[in-house]
Amino acid sequence: MDLYEYQARDLFAAHDVPVLPGKTVETAEEAKAAAAEIGTAVVVKAQVKVGGRGKAGGVKLASTPDEAAEKATDILGLDIKGHIVHRVLVAQASDIAEEYYFSFLLDRSNRTFLAMASAEGGVEIEQLAVERPDALARIPIDAIAGVDRAKAAEIVAAAKYPAVVAEEAADVIVKLWETFVSEDATLVEVNPLVRDPQDRVIALDGKVTLDENAGFRHPEHAALVDERAENPLEAKAKAKGLNYVKLDDGQVGIIGNGAGLVMSTLDVVAYAGEKHGGVKPANFLDIGGGASAQVMADGLDVILGDPDVKSVFVNVFGGITACDAVANGIVEALGILGDAATKPLVVRLDGNNVVEGRKILDDANHPLVTQVDTMDNAADKAAELAAAGA
Ligand code: GDP
Ligand code: MN
Repeated sequence: MDLYEYQARDLFAAHDVPVLPGKTVETAEEAKAAAAEIGTAVVVKAQVKVGGRGKAGGVKLASTPDEAAEKATDILGLDIKGHIVHRVLVAQASDIAEEYYFSFLLDRSNRTFLAMASAEGGVEIEQLAVERPDALARIPIDAIAGVDRAKAAEIVAAAKYPAVVAEEAADVIVKLWETFVSEDATLVEVNPLVRDPQDRVIALDGKVTLDENAGFRHPEHAALVDERAENPLEAKAKAKGLNYVKLDDGQVGIIGNGAGLVMSTLDVVAYAGEKHGGVKPANFLDIGGGASAQVMADGLDVILGDPDVKSVFVNVFGGITACDAVANGIVEALGILGDAATKPLVVRLDGNNVVEGRKILDDANHPLVTQVDTMDNAADKAAELAAAGA
């Protein structure tokens, strides 16, 4: 789960990482009051879960409360890369002497944690990594040893932060590591980490990703979920206990049993889609082993509720749950959904009791259902139907 900047900032503050006082508001009036309360020049910042807000006009300085209200009016309602701004953070403005970059992240490919740090922060780090890779230090972190003062000093030296902030930056890095570990984060990024004219080190922007698999250890993290920003289909699926992920730019709804089968189904559909005008899978949905009629109905209900979906590919390999049970599930699910089912379904059954399963679907003879025997041909049919319905 990605957090908003203000949520990341709250976590930083809770772990003694230096941040400036601020308040999150939803109207220009509230922004004015917040600026008056802070009592100094402020920065008004769009709260959207996307980078590059500054460049998009989502970060503005204001020297008076009235100006803060004006800037809030400009920023609220902005569309930043498809994210509408509903909230702004009004924070004490900092004078900036220098901007640095710092992050801890999970480096999956190297099976370790990684610190990335640069004395050239503020800018988009992806760009720096490509254009001047030498300027971005990468220091692997042993999960057991973690980051103590000595390790932090090593990171500071590798990053080439200036000597005048070396001590304080090392302190902040140790605290950021504490944040990363104790909150079960997979990313803690500060860009910019600044030096102010008094040589103090402050985290001016924060990005935190929490590991949802560790959610059971953090009941308090549930309050960080933003239902308003959550994809409504994902929220509906979550409420029904389904393992569903909406994908961008897709037209073929996917249902399968088992994560591995569903993932390979996505690949096969994307490949088949190339021949049909570039149609793509619209979602990931794994209904798991015990695919009851109700689970199938819930899954179809979520997928058919997606206006992007033009056809649905049900790809099931019968194992412990045999194909006849799945076929009955599909027939019952279509009965439960009735007129709500409107889009063509391509069903491919294979595995345990496949003959019985196919016969059940043949006998039901539902007008929306087409059976195809192989995964490749079924993907092709689903892509063809999606292209025709688009
Ligand atoms: P991002 O564009 O989404 O990464 O948003 P940031 O919070 O990083 O802000 C972008 C840039 O705005 C920063 O790199 C700073 O240069 C500038 N900025 C942000 N906060 C302040 C502030 O308090 N004072 C000053 N002078 N500049 C700021
Ligand atoms: Mn930033």
